[in-house]
Amino acid sequence: MDELIIPPTQLTLVVTNKCTAACQNCCFQCNPQNKDRLTLTEMKQYITQSVEAYSSIKLLIISGGECFTLGKDLDRVIKFATDKGLSTRVVTNGYWAKSPEKAYQRVKSLVEAGLTEINFSTGDEHLIWVPYDNIVYAVTSSLELDLTTVVNVEVSKLSHFTPNQLKTDSRLEKYQHLLGKKLFIFGGLWMPFLKSTETQLNTLENEKRDTLSITIQKKENRCSSLFNTISIDPNHQVNVCCGLTIQYNSYLRLGSAQKYPLKYLYEYQFQDFLKIWLFAEGPRKILNFCRNKREMPPIDTSKWHLCQICLEIFRDEQNILTLRQNYSEIFSNVMLRYSLLREKYFKNYKLKSNENE
Ligand code: SF4
Ligand code: SF4
Repeated sequence: MDELIIPPTQLTLVVTNKCTAACQNCCFQCNPQNKDRLTLTEMKQYITQSVEAYSSIKLLIISGGECFTLGKDLDRVIKFATDKGLSTRVVTNGYWAKSPEKAYQRVKSLVEAGLTEINFSTGDEHLIWVPYDNIVYAVTSSLELDLTTVVNVEVSKLSHFTPNQLKTDSRLEKYQHLLGKKLFIFGGLWMPFLKSTETQLNTLENEKRDTLSITIQKKENRCSSLFNTISIDPNHQVNVCCGLTIQYNSYLRLGSAQKYPLKYLYEYQFQDFLKIWLFAEGPRKILNFCRNKREMPPIDTSKWHLCQICLEIFRDEQNILTLRQNYSEIFSNVMLRYSLLREKYFKNYKLKSNENE
């Protein structure tokens, strides 16, 4: 099996399911009442265990929920990871950036602990809970502190707020030269989890109103989020990815980090051809294959988030059965594609290692 493994390059700690917001379509259904979280000791143990198992891990991503609810523990875990030689990224809704001064002081403390990148999530649903000005204060402070700053704006056909509104905000004018260098503002496809949101979106779809006139991040067919991350949630569950639908898809869970070593859990997934297929060709192709075999009409998934297509495969037992019965037809092609991707990974990894020497 060793010849199939692709070592992880990052560790993702979903440190808590507590959030200061309660967005209707939050993929993890986070809210202020939720108390699940990893302790500082647990976070440190997972970092140590991961870097000892894989020298390929270079980045720690801390997300949630809202990781800033960890208070000073956030600074401590960043310092700990930095001392282990890792780059660090936090993902936040920016609730703490209530004024330019508060924003600056909070980011400064994290930069001093070693933080290398900050990601903000915003958009219509987020803005119900976190004022837009917070994002502006947080972004400008992060740029003043020379931090790589990414803003991910949730977008769908229902959206009113767009990435362009942020890009053209006069308060960001003096940072325009940093766009695409230190500052990245993306539109990320927002996925409906509520039935009512899905119905609203479908209505717009049927009306053929094309209100989604903003640029979405490059559309990919294959799932490149697999086989690069050890992802651990606040209940110590290790998942194959941080995909939006992970909560609803038990197939993507690997097991408990409290019961098994991380290395064992991570490497176990390479025994599963379906995961290799998702990585090599992506869920859209697999779903089409399935429906074709079941003599069902194809679904138009062109406007779907990749993780939504992925869930569509797994929520029907019959699909899995069909895949089991027919996968031998495409097995060698998929494995060939996989080995080429794997080769590319090692080539890139070697190049990067040489650059860093
Ligand atoms: S801010 Fe993010 S984590 Fe919090 S409720 Fe909204 S989507 Fe969920
Ligand atoms: S497509 Fe599936 S495997 Fe890939 S990130 Fe989304 S949920 Fe995870």
